[in-house]
Amino acid sequence: MLTQVTTNASLQARKNAACAQGVGTLTPHFVSRAGNAELWDVEGRRFVDFASGIATLATGHRHPRIVEAVRAQLDDFHHTCFHVTPYEEYVALCEQLNRLVPGDFAKKSALFTTGAEAVENAMKVARVATGRSGVVAFSGAFHGRTFMGMALTGKVAPYKAGFGPMPADVWHVPFPAAPLGVTVEDSIAALDRLFRTDVDPRRVAAIVIELVQGEGGFYVAPPKLLEHLRAVCDQHGILLVCDEIQTGFGRTGKLFALEHYGVEADLVTMAKSLAGGFPLSALTGRAEVMDAALVGSIGGTYAGNPLAVAAALETIRVIGDEKLVERASMLGERLAAQLRSLQAQEPRICDVRGLGAMVAVEFRDPRTGEPDADFTRRVHAAGLQRGLLLLTCGVHGNVVRFLFALTIPDDVFEEGLSLLAGAVLDAAR
Ligand code: PMP
Repeated sequence: MLTQVTTNASLQARKNAACAQGVGTLTPHFVSRAGNAELWDVEGRRFVDFASGIATLATGHRHPRIVEAVRAQLDDFHHTCFHVTPYEEYVALCEQLNRLVPGDFAKKSALFTTGAEAVENAMKVARVATGRSGVVAFSGAFHGRTFMGMALTGKVAPYKAGFGPMPADVWHVPFPAAPLGVTVEDSIAALDRLFRTDVDPRRVAAIVIELVQGEGGFYVAPPKLLEHLRAVCDQHGILLVCDEIQTGFGRTGKLFALEHYGVEADLVTMAKSLAGGFPLSALTGRAEVMDAALVGSIGGTYAGNPLAVAAALETIRVIGDEKLVERASMLGERLAAQLRSLQAQEPRICDVRGLGAMVAVEFRDPRTGEPDADFTRRVHAAGLQRGLLLLTCGVHGNVVRFLFALTIPDDVFEEGLSLLAGAVLDAAR
């Protein structure tokens, strides 16, 4: 039974005593309730939520239609394990994903629980379909905390430190990022060099890419890179895998970031906003690739849980009905304009970038050009102080990324923008 403890400090003390420290928490505020783009802590403090569970809540906290869909499912059945007794909703969601995921070819899907699992299964399917083991990913990438997810991830601390050895045959090339001094030509040349010096492309099963690196700093893949990857994959029989776990379901101003590029991926991973905050992930891809895995070799006890599937089916309807894809572009433009006007006042802002609502601001010391993680931390802390929940990212921890609910009401969004301006000015004091 829970004891009556209501302060953040006492809960923090209990957390420190009871939970493994590896389970990090970004803020010292324990949530008591939330609605759409706002949340309240146990002491009654209100926050404008510009994090939305790390891009999970495109449809906001407790969207009434999603809550209702889950409640209705709960009244029928809430778990059977699809592998034991299947249910129509799982099939219906796969049909939807096969239709929605870009790619003019026959597709099949499988459902899982976490993003990392979708990535794991993408790699399993790619290997079994090609009969090859090599996998190429990008520096700065984030693909999850399981072993293959970690191996693919291109950031050591905290994700990989001390956890090795990683699965073999995973290779990295630099991701284009102007502030890091990496051009798209550098990335292409590095891939070419990798295939000449380290790994035979005829043994490579997949190249995995986030079109906007989420944890990595919101660097956007230039179209030239994706076109090159597609050509290289076609040339060598490699599968192109797009990790849309953070970029998917409207965030970038298209349902999938891939739609900005007009390039087809062979496999696409999804999670986060797919199910409006319920634990669900998916892998959709070429039917013949997806069917290469033996019966019983992919899935899981909770994979495609009925409550999460009901949430996903309704989330997809809400995204359409409320025109959230279009709204993402509008909100992103408004935010980028605000950040650019702040840039005129704050010289540490070296870059404002993004795709749709997936916008980020990068901070560097204007004298040395070095990443300013300390200033970034101060912006985050000042935001909390003022009642704004922000998220940081980037290999150097010097980027603030914005992942508000796309359902955020105009007045709450404007309030968030002015809290943000205040937080940047506070951090500079
Ligand atoms: N891939 C990407 C692009 C992600 O952003 C994340 C989560 N931040 C993951 C994979 C892993 O998802 P999960 O935490 O649900 O395992």
